[in-house]
Amino acid sequence: MLPVMEAFYTIQGEGVHTGTPAYFIRLGGCDVGCVWCDVKESWEAEKWPVSTIEEIVQGALAYPGRMVVITGGEPLMYDLGPLTKLLKEKGFTINIETSGAHPFSGTFDWVCFSPKKFKEPHPSIYVQANELKVVIFHKSDFEFAEKHAVLVNDNCHKLLQPEWSRSTQHLQSIIDYVKFHPDWKISLQTHKFMDIP
Ligand code: SF4
Repeated sequence: MLPVMEAFYTIQGEGVHTGTPAYFIRLGGCDVGCVWCDVKESWEAEKWPVSTIEEIVQGALAYPGRMVVITGGEPLMYDLGPLTKLLKEKGFTINIETSGAHPFSGTFDWVCFSPKKFKEPHPSIYVQANELKVVIFHKSDFEFAEKHAVLVNDNCHKLLQPEWSRSTQHLQSIIDYVKFHPDWKISLQTHKFMDIP
């Protein structure tokens, strides 16, 4: 049983898999507390109805896409082993978006690790990360990004993403940074430009 804030079929708007149709499962509950969080209503897990993993997977099976993104909230607050096992049995490619603030669980095809200053990541995330996506909200976030970049695998994709409300303020500095630090790429929240969830 897991608290599900919402589940919906859309286009992955950000990160390496931008443009891919995917079924998003947003679990309720987060104790990270980002000041700029755009899903603060997800924080209280008790607010959201609990579903069995069978019900969750049934929802995903209703759509033709076979990529699932488990997000939150902070999905690693829960043991994701049973849900990912059933999704895999049904043939899904399984991605996760996490701050890494809790011990890693579950089996994934793609792990997007987006560390936050507000709660230190658990060390178990670094070996798992396929994608390091750092949100740039303040100029000190470049240094924060590099601090985590040295801890992930060599083949981990490294992305800098402007926080939406400050994107005009920081986009030029991100462009300049990536041009001179070419192991990084830019990620934009294209779903917000497309006005889709
Ligand atoms: S980790 Fe995600 S859900 Fe939690 S506060 Fe930060 S942005 Fe919001």
